[in-house]
Amino acid sequence: MADVAKVIECPCGAIIEGASDNEVVAKAQQHAKSTHDMDLSNEQALAMARPA
Ligand SMILES: [Zn+2]
Repeated sequence: MADVAKVIECPCGAIIEGASDNEVVAKAQQHAKSTHDMDLSNEQALAMARPA
């Protein structure tokens, strides 16, 4: 599967970008944890991801 750049727009307004699904999911999970003290699952993060 080709890596496609993805972007997640957090409800707080933060834009999280990654070069691949794995990267954007990892960054979104870090953001959710550090900024919102929330555990984001891979499925939740992927559901929010859009092609960049
Ligand atoms: Zn946020």
